[in-house]
Amino acid sequence: MKWAPKAAPAPVSVAQRKHAARSKRSSAGSPVVEIREEKAPPPLDDYYNAMFTAFGPQHWWPGNSRFEIIVGAILTQNTSWTNVERAIATLRSAGMLTPKGITAAPLARLERMIRSSGYYRQKARKLKEFCAFLQRQYGGSLKRMFDTPTILLRDQLLGVFGIGPETADSILLYAGEHPVFVVDAYTRRMLARHGWVNEKAKYEDIRWKFEEQFPGDTRRFNEFHALIVNTGKHYCRTQKPLCGECPLGRYLEDGR
Ligand code: SF4
Repeated sequence: MKWAPKAAPAPVSVAQRKHAARSKRSSAGSPVVEIREEKAPPPLDDYYNAMFTAFGPQHWWPGNSRFEIIVGAILTQNTSWTNVERAIATLRSAGMLTPKGITAAPLARLERMIRSSGYYRQKARKLKEFCAFLQRQYGGSLKRMFDTPTILLRDQLLGVFGIGPETADSILLYAGEHPVFVVDAYTRRMLARHGWVNEKAKYEDIRWKFEEQFPGDTRRFNEFHALIVNTGKHYCRTQKPLCGECPLGRYLEDGR
């Protein structure tokens, strides 16, 4: 489509301005700005490649079994991974790192075992509630649970006490290899700072940005989330982000 501006032109994007610079002139010599849809590479793909090139594979999620990953996903809420590792090591050495072990343990003992992970009373209850769900719905079988279609299982997990979207998606992706994307505070902050979403965007809207661009790509979701966490920890801090050193700094052009 061609148009010749008569009045002040409407604001255009950086891509449009670059394209305009390459536009032709009309036979009368007046500038004719040709605005075309430019097929840019998928921007999120660029983000992924930049982080992967900088950091390499992240080998997530750390854990020796699917149940251990689930326990980690629940315990990591509002605490550092170091604290979670201590709690998991304590459970393992007590022989309690199984659905049966968690179910059989008296609540007070379980609380003591996971104390290092913080909010230990709530988290002990969450672990027990998950194990009760697993037993009630799937006879205790993680295989049967993860053989369930993603949408159905996600709904069921969200119905378990203490399992919100981020935890449910972590369980689905990292323990069950289901194709869902995990959104966390790092993801939200990074996307907001790059102008993709506003700070208050809904979890599901952010998730969809990734899932619509890489549908069904479980391996990509696995690595992408881990790379974002790494970027968030080392560069995209709440205060004073290190954009000049960050592998995503080049995408902050245009005044953002
Ligand atoms: S540190 Fe800067 S460049 Fe890196 S992700 Fe955060 S806002 Fe983007």
